[in-house]
Amino acid sequence: MPDVRQRAAVLAALNTVSNAQHLQLKSKGAADNKFWGTTEAVDKALISAYKTEVKDHYFWQQNAMCCYCSSEIQPNKRGYDAEHIIDKDEHPHLMFELDNIAASCIVCNGHKSNKNVLVAAGKPGAVPKASADYLLVHPHLDEWGDYLTYDVYDRVVAIPENAKGQKTIEICGIKAINATRLARRFSANQRSQAYKLLVKFYDYKTKRKQQEILTALEGLAQHSLESAALIDDLRALLDV
Ligand SMILES: [Zn+2]
Repeated sequence: MPDVRQRAAVLAALNTVSNAQHLQLKSKGAADNKFWGTTEAVDKALISAYKTEVKDHYFWQQNAMCCYCSSEIQPNKRGYDAEHIIDKDEHPHLMFELDNIAASCIVCNGHKSNKNVLVAAGKPGAVPKASADYLLVHPHLDEWGDYLTYDVYDRVVAIPENAKGQKTIEICGIKAINATRLARRFSANQRSQAYKLLVKFYDYKTKRKQQEILTALEGLAQHSLESAALIDDLRALLDV
C-alpha cells in the first residue's frame, strides 16, 4: 500500500520573487485569466521563477505525492503541475495566492481543469480558509487519510459515506487511475482491453451496464488466477 500523504504547510514567503514583483503578478493575473501562460518575456521569466519555487515547496511538503490521488510524482518540472486549487479561469485574482497552489500529478490537474471546488456560489474576494468551504479534499486544510484510503488493489477509494472523498475522486478523475491499477492485475496481453472495460465500468451509472462489463472482464480473467480473484472482489466491493 502506498504512503498516505500528509497535509502541506503553506509557503510563507517567496525568496526568488520580491514582494513588489509578487504584487505585480497578482495585479496582472487579476486582470487577465490567461496571464499564467503569458509569452511576454519579463513576465514569463518572473512567473517561471515563482512557479519553480512554489512547486518545489509543495512537492516536498507533499512528500513527492500528488495532492489529490497521492500517486508518487517526480521532481522533474514536467513530472507534475502547479495546481490552482480554486481555478484561475473563473478566479484569476487568486492566481498567485500562495495558499491556492499545490503540487498535483498531470492526470489529476487535467481532469480537474476549471471545475468548481467551492461549496458557496459566487467569487470569494480572498482564498477561503476553512475546510468546509471546499467540495474536495483540500491539499493544505485537510488530511487526505480522513477522507480517502486505498483498497486491496491500491485503488483510491472514499472512506464509506464520505462525500468529500467521493467528490475528490469525481472532480479529479481518479477512477481512471484506479482502472489502471486494476488492469495491472490482468495478464500482460489482456491489460489494454481490461483497462478500456474498467474505464467503461466506472463511467456507467446503471448496475445492468456494469454487470455487462463485469461479464466481459470475467472472460478476460479466466486466463489469470489473480484477475479471477479480482472479479470476485469487484462484485463484492461494487455490489454488482
Ligand atoms: Zn493525481
